[in-house]
Formats: sequence, C-alpha cells, structure tokens
Amino acid sequence: MYDIIIIGGGVSGCAAARELSRYQADILVVDKEEDVCCGTTKANSAIVHAGYDAAHGSLMARLNVEGSKMMPALAKELDFAYDQCGSLVICINEEDRPALQKLYENGVANGVEGLRIIERDELVAMEPHIADEAVAALWAPTGGIVCPFGLTYALAENAAKNGVKFQFDTTVTGLTRLDDGWRVETDRGPLEARCVVNAAGVYADKLHNMVQPDDPMTIVPRRGDYFLLDHTAGDHVSHTIFQLPGKYGKGVLVTPTVHGNLLIGPTAIDIEDKEGTATTAAGLDEVRAKAGLAVKDIPLRQTITSFAGLRAHELRHDFFIGEIAPGFVDCAGIESPGLSGSPAIGVMVADIVSQSLGLEKDPAFDPTRKGILDPKTLPMEERNELIRHNPAYGQIICRCESITEGEIIDAIHRVPGARSLDGVKRRTRAGMGRCQAGFCSPRVMEILARELGVEQSAVTKSGGGSRIIVGTNKDVY
Ligand SMILES: Cc1cc2nc3c(=O)[nH]c(=O)nc-3n(C[C@H](O)[C@H](O)[C@H](O)COP(=O)(O)OP(=O)(O)OC[C@H]3O[C@@H](n4cnc5c(N)ncnc54)[C@H](O)[C@@H]3O)c2cc1C
Repeated sequence: MYDIIIIGGGVSGCAAARELSRYQADILVVDKEEDVCCGTTKANSAIVHAGYDAAHGSLMARLNVEGSKMMPALAKELDFAYDQCGSLVICINEEDRPALQKLYENGVANGVEGLRIIERDELVAMEPHIADEAVAALWAPTGGIVCPFGLTYALAENAAKNGVKFQFDTTVTGLTRLDDGWRVETDRGPLEARCVVNAAGVYADKLHNMVQPDDPMTIVPRRGDYFLLDHTAGDHVSHTIFQLPGKYGKGVLVTPTVHGNLLIGPTAIDIEDKEGTATTAAGLDEVRAKAGLAVKDIPLRQTITSFAGLRAHELRHDFFIGEIAPGFVDCAGIESPGLSGSPAIGVMVADIVSQSLGLEKDPAFDPTRKGILDPKTLPMEERNELIRHNPAYGQIICRCESITEGEIIDAIHRVPGARSLDGVKRRTRAGMGRCQAGFCSPRVMEILARELGVEQSAVTKSGGGSRIIVGTNKDVY
C-alpha cells in the first residue's frame, strides 16, 4: 500500500508530488496518458499572472499571488525557463477607465506589488505596436512568462529524484473507501493508498463525484484556441499584452514566449467533450479579430501552428482544494491561473495531506534539479569541448530549433523520461519550430527506438495507438 496516490500528472499533480516528496512517504503519481504534462498543462498561455484579476478573497487570488511570488526562486532551484517580462492590460476606450481602475484596486487588495496605471505616451514607449485606440494600461511588473512543459518536467523530475514513482497509461476508473485508506481501481488493476489526491484536471469532477455524490461538482471544459508564430515575430511585443477582462475571462492576449515565439489567443468556448482539443475555423477567426484590437500589424503570416487547450472550469469559478473525505483530497477546478498558482497549490496540497497522515519531514530531501543542457547557451570554446567529449552534442537533429542528439538522448534517459515524439518535443523543443517536425521526426524516431531498445514501428507520436509507421521500406522483401 502506498502512503499517497496522486491522480493526474499535470502541473498541479507534479507540484503536489514535489512538495510531498519533502516528507517520508511512499508516493505514486498515476496518469492515463504516457507522460506527465499531457492534459491542460501542455496547452495554455504560459503566463505567470501577477494576480490582479482573480476576485479578491477567492482561493484562486491567494494562490495566484503566492505562486507568482514563488516562481522566480523556484525557476532557479529547478532550472526551468521563466522570464519576469511584466504585463499590460490595455484600455482602448475612455469609458472603460473605471474598469481599469477596478482591476488595479482588486490587484492591490490581492497583494500584487508594483501595479500602476500608465497613460498612452508611456505605453507607446514600452510597446511601439500598441493599437492607436489604446488610451491607458495597467502595468504589472511582476507578471511573467514560463515554459509550462519545463516547469512541469522540473517538478516531476525533482519529485522522482526524491523518491516519487510514476505510473503512466493507467486510467483510474473507481474509488472505494477502505478502513485505512482507499482502493483505486484502474484499467491495469487495483492500487491502494492511505491517501489519494485528485488532481485530474477536466476529469476531477468525475472522481470527486465518486467520493462525494451528495455534493457533486461539475467541470465544464472551456476551450481556448491559439496561434503560435515563429521566432521572426517574437519581438513584436516585449510584454504580455491583455485586453481588459470581460465576461469570459482575460480576452485575447498577445505575448512573447520564453523561447522567442509570439503567442496569440485564447478564445473561451464552453464545450462538452473533455478531449475536444481541436481548433475550429470560427475560434481562430475570433482570435485573429480580437488580437488586432490591442496590438497592430501582427505578422500572422508567420504562424507556424495553431492549437487549443481546455480550462477545467468549475461552475463556482474558484480552485477547490480540500479533504472531502478522510484521506481523499481534491485539487480541482484548477483553471487559469493554475500554472501561476502551481507552486502554492503544491504547498497547500502537501500541508493538507501531511497533516492528515501525520507525515515526518525527510532530512534527505534535495530541492535542486538541473535541466537538459542546451549547448547553444555555452561559450563557443566550452561548446567545442562538450562536442569533443560527447559528439552527440555536435549532431543537429532539429534544424529549426537547433536541437542536438545529445539533448534528445538526455531527455529519453531522465526520470520520468521521454518515450514518444511529443515527449521529446516538449522536453527539448525538437519539432517545435517552423517546419513542425517535418524534417526531424524520422531522426527522433531512430534515436527513440535505439535508446529505448524497441523497433521503430513501436515508437509513437504521443503514446497509445499513435504509432507512426508499420515497418520500414524493405521489411517485406
Ligand atoms: C486556454 C488556456 C489558457 C490558460 N492560460 C493560463 C495562463 O496563462 N496562466 C496560468 O497560470 N494558467 C493558465 N491556464 C490554466 C492552466 O493551464 C491549468 O490551470 C493547469 O494546467 C491545470 O493543471 P492540472 O494539473 O490541474 O490539470 P491537467 O494538466 O489537465 O492534468 C490533469 C491530469 O490528470 C490526468 N487524468 C485525468 N483523469 C484521469 C484518470 N481518470 N486517471 C488517470 N489520470 C487522469 C490527465 O491525463 C492529466 O494529465 C490556462 C488554461 C487554458 C486551457
């Protein structure tokens, strides 16, 4: 029997796992997908919100502000990409000024530091491509951007380093109360734990309702569509540009990413299908039309891909974190700003679980982790030395993003490591660039097959049945 089973390897589950690995406990993270970071955590705006938006007094507001304050130190400790570039909320109508002032006051009440309303002149000096209609903006210097994959893999790897186990391709199908814990039914047989954490994203309501049918929860997947533009467009803006929030959230934003791309989106469309991450023409048209309201001359012809993610929108519109039955802890309704709040979400879940189980701190806990070495960041002499020592760092596999074989091999042999093309892509960016994996896919497949000791025909795009080839050309002769 495990001490703790965490259902869901998104940023919430991995943050909880990392914080719980500070304690002496046997911990297992279970996910239905083939890797961590396959749910909402892989498709979002990647903004570390300063925290002025969430309603004052809500759990969402508290954890957003706490999480965003923790992020800079966490990024150093766990070595993931994060940039405190600051954010601007643009007011394009004089009559909307009261709403801007209200947002400012909400932020001050939430404890966001450095907020200021700035006028058009200062705004244009900061962002030359701002729309001609913009009259003022709310400036939040503590806003930032992060790599959501990098953050989540860092949390997962540090948890694994401190003893947490991961089990993938395992769907939780039922939950039964035992005298001393819970039986977790899965499609790969039962598991048992003294305590269960429900961090199942858009499916957290299903698990909650198995345990507490008298007080059910409803999570509506709220889809957000995006355009991702190439590096050539990455400096079109240098801060995250929001429009004043409306009824359906934060509106369409325009932001640089930590990897030098430009991201535009999202929409906010309520749907029924919890797996419905396909974009629609109507959704993308909406993004296109709204983005131009705050930022002009966006070079949309530099679009390299479009994608969509699903917010886990709970009807009460707040995070729901608490022990709803002895030894059963919900971490549900984690819609935006869940990424920003994740460091604080992890701490809150760990506090609840450790108190419930009476856990002792582990003196051997190691809070550090080193990310995948990117040779591009080294001075030329050190880079040459690295290649002399390990020629795999001299083999460019992904031309668009200049990713080497050495980085891909490293990604595969980490714990938890990459087992698919998408796993390699999220960890190293091989396949993330302009050609969208057109060139490097066959080469990454070869490396995966070789390093994992499987046939190339067993390599998948994203686990399950997503095999890419059925055999090699000359197999039949
Ligand atoms: C369009 C959009 C924009 C966003 N922008 C931002 C932003 O800019 N900043 C920000 O802070 N936040 C943002 N968010 C929110 C943020 O992405 C989420 O809050 C966060 O990723 C939620 O993480 P999670 O771990 O709770 O859920 P998920 O990442 O969805 O993880 C849940 C995991 O549970 C697994 N699972 C589900 N059911 C089962 C089961 N039965 N058995 C086993 N495993 C199961 C899934 O496979 C999944 O891996 C945005 C979200 C969206 C959709």
